[in-house]
Amino acid sequence: MKQFEQMEASLLFCPKCKEATPVRKRLLLVLSEGEKFDYVCSHCGTVSGDKVERSAPNQLTPSRF
Ligand SMILES: [Zn+2]
Repeated sequence: MKQFEQMEASLLFCPKCKEATPVRKRLLLVLSEGEKFDYVCSHCGTVSGDKVERSAPNQLTPSRF
């Protein structure tokens, strides 16, 4: 009896809320090497992180500031 939800909701530290908040993923740019996403705080709308998703699954490079 296990429910598995395929939601991409995750928690990131928001500099404005000063806590880890749920983020929404937003497509920012389509680059030649992949797609760049912003993670936006669902509380205040501040961008709390970004990530480039490359076509090759080995090359994931998440970055947060
Ligand atoms: Zn926030």
